Amino acid sequence: MSTAGDSPTGCVFCDIVSETSPAHVVYSDDDVIAFLDISPVARGHTLVIPRRHSAGLDDVDPALGAPLLAAAQRVAKALKGSAFRAHGVNVALNDGRAAMQTVFHTHIHVIPRRHGDKVSFAKGLLTRRSGDLAAIGTELRAEIAAQR
Ligand code: AMP
Ligand code: ZN
Repeated sequence: MSTAGDSPTGCVFCDIVSETSPAHVVYSDDDVIAFLDISPVARGHTLVIPRRHSAGLDDVDPALGAPLLAAAQRVAKALKGSAFRAHGVNVALNDGRAAMQTVFHTHIHVIPRRHGDKVSFAKGLLTRRSGDLAAIGTELRAEIAAQR
C-alpha cells in the first residue's frame, strides 16, 4: 500500500489527483475523482475524493458534499449495473485515526454488497486482495459512461 512517505506531496491522493501517482480512475469531474481502492474489501470497491485537499470531515468544504455524493451515487448505480450486479452498497467516510482513517485526504468508500455476502465480505476485510484492478476499472468506467 502507498504511504505518505512514498508521496512527492506528502498526500498519496493529491498525487493521484495531479496524476503523479497512478490509479484506476473510473469517474472525474471539476470537483471530484473516483478511483478503485488498491486493497479492496470487495470487487469494485471505489473511493470518491474531492480534488482539493482536505484531511477529513471537519475541513472539507461543505459545498463539495453534493458533488461527492453525486459521484458516489453514480458509482453505486454502476456497481448495481450488469457487470457487477451488486444488490446494495456500503458508503462510508472514516474520519480520524480512531475511526480507522489511514489516508488523510477526505474520501468516501463505496463498497458493493450482495445478499448473503457476510462471509465473503468479512474475508475481504481481512485479505484485501487487489484482484485485476485494470479489468475491473474498465468494466466500471463503461458502466458509468453508459449512464451519461
Ligand atoms: P481509510 O482507512 O478510510 O483511510 O481508507 C483508505 C483507503 O485508501 C484504504 O482502503 C486503502 O486501501 C486505500 N488506498 C491507499 N493508498 C491507495 C492508493 N495509492 N490507491 C488507491 N487506494 C489506496
Ligand atoms: Zn491530499
